[in-house]
Amino acid sequence: MDLVEALHASETRFRAAFTDAGIGMALVDAEDRIIEANPALAEMLGHSVPDLIRRHIHDLLEVEEEARRVYLELLRGERDRIRLEKRLKHRGGHAVWTNVTISLIRDADGRPQYTLAMVEDVSEARRLGDRLHYQAVHDPLTMLPNRSLFFDRLAGAFAEADQRIGLCYLDLDGFAAINDTLGHHVGDDLLVAVAERLEQRFAARGHLVARMGGDEFAVLVPRSAGPEELTALAEEVVSLLSAPYDLAGQRVVATASVGVVERPVPGTTPTDLVRDADATLSWAKSDGRARWAFYDPDRIANQTTRQLLATTMLPALERGEFLVEYQPLVSLQGEPGADAALTGVEALVRWQHPEFGKLSPDRFIGIAEETGAIVPLGRWVLETACAEGRAWLDRFPGSELFVSVNLAARQFWDSDVVADVAEILGSTRFPARLLQLELTESAVMGPAGRPLEALHALAAMGVRIAIDDFGTGYSNLAYLSRLPVHVLKLDGSFLEGFQEGATEATAAVAGPARYARRQAADEQIVLALVQLAHALGLTVTAEGVESALQADRLRAAGCDTAQGWHFGRAMAPEAILALLTPDQ
Ligand code: C2E
Ligand code: MG
Ligand code: MG
Repeated sequence: MDLVEALHASETRFRAAFTDAGIGMALVDAEDRIIEANPALAEMLGHSVPDLIRRHIHDLLEVEEEARRVYLELLRGERDRIRLEKRLKHRGGHAVWTNVTISLIRDADGRPQYTLAMVEDVSEARRLGDRLHYQAVHDPLTMLPNRSLFFDRLAGAFAEADQRIGLCYLDLDGFAAINDTLGHHVGDDLLVAVAERLEQRFAARGHLVARMGGDEFAVLVPRSAGPEELTALAEEVVSLLSAPYDLAGQRVVATASVGVVERPVPGTTPTDLVRDADATLSWAKSDGRARWAFYDPDRIANQTTRQLLATTMLPALERGEFLVEYQPLVSLQGEPGADAALTGVEALVRWQHPEFGKLSPDRFIGIAEETGAIVPLGRWVLETACAEGRAWLDRFPGSELFVSVNLAARQFWDSDVVADVAEILGSTRFPARLLQLELTESAVMGPAGRPLEALHALAAMGVRIAIDDFGTGYSNLAYLSRLPVHVLKLDGSFLEGFQEGATEATAAVAGPARYARRQAADEQIVLALVQLAHALGLTVTAEGVESALQADRLRAAGCDTAQGWHFGRAMAPEAILALLTPDQ
């Protein structure tokens, strides 16, 4: 056939270009049969040139519907050229990835006659691309899927709407120490060994094992059967990884902590799942490592609230969200039967939180001690209480009501509490003799130093020092008596055996005889403590007095002062003022 005519070009020039072309070429007729092919194409497909002639193109490639449609458009003359990415079949069976450009060749009258396919082998480039892609989604050290592939798969798992999904998020315990003591190469070997164990055990089950970074790994269960499957898996991870490792002749022992989350796919997101697993992992760590913890929404909420309170506390103090309430302290040694006389008050701080309502100090004092916010907060309570005390004194000069303020250990270490007290007493004109400071035993025990010096300085100013919650700590009376301490506040737990209401409940559990012994023992202890304290020159305040019976027994035991709901709860300063009005 006369190609020259068909192509409107010189035959020799076309033949040369066709035969010697570096890329594969074929001329295809309207019946999809190859009528000419060049050596480059033949070589690409593992055939000889004659072998290709008259072949149907379907022998060499699969033609999908879409490709067929555009090809027909080309044949009808609606297009002049199409480009496709096609996988051709090599005679040896493997695939040859190609970019194919097909042009329409018309006859002398302009009617479509043949198509000319130019075929470029891109397999090599594609293999390189695959490799680059593989490297981009795998961790080079352990060859495990990396974080990016993990999130890809996770998104895939979330596409299956009504499945359950589970995730174990794990981290090696003390990995930094292993790195530091045994060297980074041993650390690396350990990570590889961990990856191998995880992959061998879990990948076969269809779970995804990924390295999330550092010494963190994840095992994703895309179709979980329920929480039990995940807790069993977590248990397995912990024991699997705790078996000793032989690394370059060294025997290394390592453990892992695991955070476990398992839930239905609807109602959660990939980000939630990973965040919660990570938070749960931190509980496994803080609960003692080498263990797993299961996600607990209450605990998360708690932790979130804690964090929220921690970060908003100081601005809240500036905004005036804190307030002080005052709980009556009464004398037990007045006329028996007569109304106990109000002698003082304990200042107790509250946080009027715009969102959570009035928060008790148990919710935020611990946090304040951790963050250090207790220093400005404690100073503010002290100033507020002294100013209030001054106001009561101004209204009722004879009342001599003392004010007892709690001090946290950190106020001794992180601020000059002596200077603060002196300054506040000066600015509020509240007499030092009416100020009492409450410290826990643990705050004054421990290494001598700053707190002890401060204690002496405060006592020298005329301020009274009370030991709060006595009986819950060391209860080292002999030691305390050598300090400038004036008052023991007996913890409310001593009064358990004094309580009428407790009789039946405790008796039901322990038996009446045992209860009676317990009650007797508590009374004996209180009696002995009071006598000892008095002998050492201390007065005794009983905390948590809730009933008349307890009050009577404490009075009989010689307690000097009492505090508790029986006498009055913590209240606003105006309510204290009202208590002062009638008599004084
Ligand atoms: P605390 O110093 O031992 O204060 C006594 C606590 O016992 C108060 O709880 C009080 O409301 C409670 N209470 C009083 N009477 C009774 C009773 O009859 N029965 C029972 N079950 N409880 C009674 P609150 O106000 O919740 O204070 C808790 C703790 O918070 C205080 O214990 C104190 O350690 C701390 N705290 C309160 N205010 C401050 C403060 O300004 N600074 C510091 N550092 N700590 C404070
Ligand atoms: Mg107290
Ligand atoms: Mg107390």
